[in-house]
This record gives sequence, structure tokens and C-alpha cells, in this order.
Amino acid sequence: MTIWSDYNPVRITSGPGAIDRLFLLDPPVITGNRILMVTSAGFTARGVTEKIEEKARKAGLENPIRVFDGVTANPELDFLDRMTITLRREGISGIIALGGGSALDTAKIFSVALSSDLEIPLDMVLRQKQPHVWKNHIPIVAIPTTAGTGAEVTPFATVWDSRNKKKYSVSGERVYPDHALLDPELTLTLPPKETLYTGLDAISHALESLWNKNRTPVSEALALKALTLANKALPAIINQPDSLYYREMMQQAALMAGLAISRTRTAIAHAISYPVTMRFGVPHGLACSFTLPGLIKHYTHALDHGPIKTVMHETLKTVEELNLENEMATYIGEENLSEYIEEMFHPDRIGNYSGILTDDDISRLVLFKTEK
Ligand SMILES: [Zn+2]
Repeated sequence: MTIWSDYNPVRITSGPGAIDRLFLLDPPVITGNRILMVTSAGFTARGVTEKIEEKARKAGLENPIRVFDGVTANPELDFLDRMTITLRREGISGIIALGGGSALDTAKIFSVALSSDLEIPLDMVLRQKQPHVWKNHIPIVAIPTTAGTGAEVTPFATVWDSRNKKKYSVSGERVYPDHALLDPELTLTLPPKETLYTGLDAISHALESLWNKNRTPVSEALALKALTLANKALPAIINQPDSLYYREMMQQAALMAGLAISRTRTAIAHAISYPVTMRFGVPHGLACSFTLPGLIKHYTHALDHGPIKTVMHETLKTVEELNLENEMATYIGEENLSEYIEEMFHPDRIGNYSGILTDDDISRLVLFKTEK
């Protein structure tokens, strides 16, 4: 037996219509006189931003919300630093994050970067490797609109530096959102591809925390439950995208998988994914799951019979039926991904995998065949 401990400080409010509680949270998170809303342009176009502004007016917020709807997929380091410098002048007192993983990550970064005393925070900490602990934090409510990333409950955020072909992680105690507000109705309009890819991300998170060296009894319970729910919900949503019942089930699966990786962090499938996203633009959820069939087979081969093996085999069936090789073929043609193995070997990720893999094993994992 080893000694383990457990911690996650994020309060959670969940259920259909939960968005109406945004300004009624207990304890309140959105206080002060300058609230920033971080989202992407699509939510403004669809009128969601305006609805939240209206709720703020009704709740008696002193000033109109400052909307930043410039979030794009895979947030870039230099852009985040530039926005930080601009937003610092505005005295932001609270942050509402609404959107997928990139919106939530952007908001989490603003939360610590805006309140840090570093002039150009991400460049100094991530690129120049200046030793730094994020000590301050602007309170943040995270409202996920996809069911996958779990970013609403994790203490890390991904930052991309496409100029230098690098990916970084902003992490630490202060990076956790204060409150996660989960409303499955917000996921009903998620397009089919995003539903599939973000759902796969959740499955990947649950598996990664199960075959993780940092696994604890708590992370294991969360991940097992996440997989049981996702194996049922994801195939069901693909056929019935309007089902609030399955949308809610998938959202819970993603939340539990997020809670699991908040304890263990991710592992090999994510290590492999980053160069694949950086170099070929493969969406995160697909990039971190096309290797899952091979990895499940590799990991369960030596595993004793029990609930983990059973649920992993069920997950293998779920993932195999989704034909991820064909999904990958829309992004990658003849290129040989094994050329990037060195970039995939990120010790703080791949080192979390509790199985043993050689370079040859990884070359085989990243080789995918397409149906001709
Ligand atoms: Zn992920």
C-alpha cells in the first residue's frame, strides 16, 4: 500500500437550467464591478452572450459585462499575453468562462495571468522558463458547452506556441476555477463532429487516469464511472443528438473524467496527441483517442480480470465502432507519424503511463490504416 491523498476545490452545480443560477451561486463568485466574459464568437452570434448580459442586468450588476469573444481553438501564447496586457488596464474582478476547452483554458489563464506581477507572464514563465508560482487568481465560473474536456474542474490549461512548434501547460493550485456550472441544455446544439471528438476526449481522460502511475482509489472510482456512462451515452447521442437525457449523461461522464485527471493528469495518449494537433491540425479529442484501441489492447493484455479490464474492453468496443482511422484520414494522408516520436516523448506525460512501451510499440500505435 502506498500513501495517497485527495483534493479538488471546485464547487459544482449541475442540471438542466443550471445556467439560471449563474448570479445566484453560493458563495457568490461573480462579484466586484468589472466582470469579464470569455467565450468564442459563435456564442455571441447565436445570442448566448446577450442572454448572459441580460441576466447580469437583472441580477443588478453595477457595470455591463466586458465581453471577450475572441477565443479560437488551441489558444496561442503571444495572443494571450497581448490580451493580458490589454485587460489588465480594465480592473477585472470576476470571470465567466463559457464554451469548449479552449474558452475555459483561456479564461483560466487570464485568471492567473491578469493578477500576476510579471510584465509578459506567459512568455516569461513558459518560454523563458522563469521559476514562478501563480499566486493570485481572479474568481472564475466555468460553464462548459461541450461534454469532453473536463476543463471546468482541472488545475491546468494548455497554451500553444505554433511559431516554435511547442505546447505548454499553465498549472497550479490557483488555476482551478472556483465554480463549475454544468447545464446539459447548452450541449444540445453541439454539432456532430464536436460532439464526437469532445466525447472521445472524455473517454481518453478516463482511460489515461486509469493506466496512470498517479492513480488513487478516488480517481479510479471516478474514471470507472465516467467510462460506464460514456460507453452508453456517446453512441446514443450520435443517433439521438436531441436527447437531453443522453446529453446530460455524457456531460456527467466528461465531468467525472475531468475530476479523475485533475488528480492524476493525463498520460501517453495525450503525449502522442500534441505533435499530431500541432503539425496536422487534428482536433484534440481525435488526436488523443486514435491510439486508444491499440493502447487498451496493450494495457489490458497483462491485466488481471476485474472491473477495470471489463470496462476497458467495453470501451474498446465503443471506440472501435467509431472508425477513428477514417476520421484521422481526413486530416492525415501519407505522412508517417512515427517521424514525430521524439516530440511525443514528453516525460511528464508519457512517464505517467504505468505500462511499458518501447519506441517500436509507439510506432505501431501511431500507424493507422484507412479503408480504401
Ligand atoms: Zn484531453
